[in-house]
Amino acid sequence: MEFSILAEAFYKMESTRKRLELTQFLVELFEKTPHDVIAKIVYLLQGKLRPDFEGVELGVAEKLAIRAISKSSGSTIKKIEDEYRKGGDLGQAASIIMEQKTQTTFLVEDITIERVYETLFKIANLEGSRSQDMKMKYISSLLNDANPLEASYILKILLGTLRLGVAENTVMDALAIAFSGSKENRKSLEHAYSVSSDLGKVAEVIATKGIEGMEKFEIVLFNPIRPMLADRVKSEEEAMEKMGEEFAAEYKLDGERVQLHIEGDKVVLYSRSLENISSYYPDIIEKIPKAIQADNIILEAEAVAMNENTGEFLPFQELMHRRRKYKIEKAVTQYPISVNLFDILYCNGKSCLELSYKDRREKLEKVVKEDEFVKYIPMAIVKNENEVEDFMENSINAGSEGLMLKMLDKPYQAGSRGNYWLKLKREYQNELGDSLDLVVIGGFFGKGRRTGSYGTLLLATYDEDEDTFPSICKVGTGFSDESLDQLYQILHPKVTIKKNPRIISEMEADVWFEPELVIEVVASEITLSPIHKAAKDVIRKGAGLALRFPKFTGKIRVEKAVEDASTNEEVITLYKGQKKVAHDKNLM
Ligand code: AMP
Repeated sequence: MEFSILAEAFYKMESTRKRLELTQFLVELFEKTPHDVIAKIVYLLQGKLRPDFEGVELGVAEKLAIRAISKSSGSTIKKIEDEYRKGGDLGQAASIIMEQKTQTTFLVEDITIERVYETLFKIANLEGSRSQDMKMKYISSLLNDANPLEASYILKILLGTLRLGVAENTVMDALAIAFSGSKENRKSLEHAYSVSSDLGKVAEVIATKGIEGMEKFEIVLFNPIRPMLADRVKSEEEAMEKMGEEFAAEYKLDGERVQLHIEGDKVVLYSRSLENISSYYPDIIEKIPKAIQADNIILEAEAVAMNENTGEFLPFQELMHRRRKYKIEKAVTQYPISVNLFDILYCNGKSCLELSYKDRREKLEKVVKEDEFVKYIPMAIVKNENEVEDFMENSINAGSEGLMLKMLDKPYQAGSRGNYWLKLKREYQNELGDSLDLVVIGGFFGKGRRTGSYGTLLLATYDEDEDTFPSICKVGTGFSDESLDQLYQILHPKVTIKKNPRIISEMEADVWFEPELVIEVVASEITLSPIHKAAKDVIRKGAGLALRFPKFTGKIRVEKAVEDASTNEEVITLYKGQKKVAHDKNLM
């Protein structure tokens, strides 16, 4: 299939943010696509080559791309850089330069999607001393044969700046319409996506096998499953109302969620955002197989830093020391952990997702042996508010954040947030009832003691409908010297010349960051704001929502993807919740 068809579709998609229009463009594109390239198209339109969990990264630097454009177009580096500065988008700059191409070249080969994809794949896999030269060679070979529009998209994909604004849900809507005739069938696609975390594979199966293929979608070992998430409640009382007569309460440990895929000695670990994080936990890889009494298994656990002498759980921040490429062995002995299992998703070739919580817990305790390192998460069956309160005390005393409450008779709902699981936190029983996980979008340089760091950060929620990051507050309190330093190390490489188009902010920051990092904040209140953009126009026309007195909790949530940040919906619910409390108080 010709790459020009894809480039033209991308061009149309870039011109709109309206979800219905985007869906329509995608349906038209999918209907033209042969089945053997559809997976590739689905990855490319998300700016990827493979599903995230495979960790295939293009990693092409701007400098190298500029040299490749120069080589293919005959233009000087300076001219390309000037053009880039004018528009702020290197893909666009390349297309303008290519229009004015000074060298006359003959189009020797039509460029197909297959060729572009394969070349990009080769680039992603290059390593070693000669890799830069080889990358140059591959990029210019594509640019030589590309027309200006094609060149601009090839570069955007290479540099990771393609932003079509198509959320996964939009892709699934379009696939459902194109291959089953109706958006109503999206539920089946969601199931397939939740068990495979691979939208390309979902596309290929629905294109070739239709909707029946979706229903038969099965878990595959070493393909992560999208995690089940919990709703929040503010009090024991509210929990009782929602959970019914009898339910399970587990400690809510403050560590990193890990999905463990195990077969014999082969162990792969995935984070909550489904990245392969095996390299941070060589101790889990080594010790877990001994505890397993099954041929193959998928488990979920919270990896928690421990004080080895007292057996106390330590806060999440301690795990940050493990996020390094080198000298991991030293970090493993300095910052010991335990693995606290709370679910089983697959065992001996069979899915466990349909089993009730009670049956899954039983199975977990049957097929995994506890030892010094591997534990079941502490759990109690509770029946009334007193028992919840009591277990909460134990949990807090052990160093955890609160409780997770789980319905006994419900299945595991991969990839969705619902009220079969509720979280009840003690730590942040501030006015809002919960902390928020927000995306860092901008920074302001620090003064005095904070010189050389970002003293204040601009934060955003995630707008699921628009796939954007609207601003919600500036935060300048709650930072220790150590956290300022850590944040600087993480954020400095994410500084961009131009604000990413997914960032929605009227407020100007000193620097803009690629929206890639999530941090946790608490606040006293949510208010209407003329400046901030979160949930704009929802409560009142012309106003967004903002946090009052926000404070950083010290938690840098490296394990969360920006799409897992608090959404506009959640902030609206919190806003309405506080209104209700105020209203109830007035009535008293
Ligand atoms: P939150 O990140 O505040 O939405 O809380 C959900 C997270 O709590 C999960 O992603 C897990 O990392 C963590 N967690 C801790 N203890 C448990 C538990 N017993 N069951 C499920 N998740 C847990």
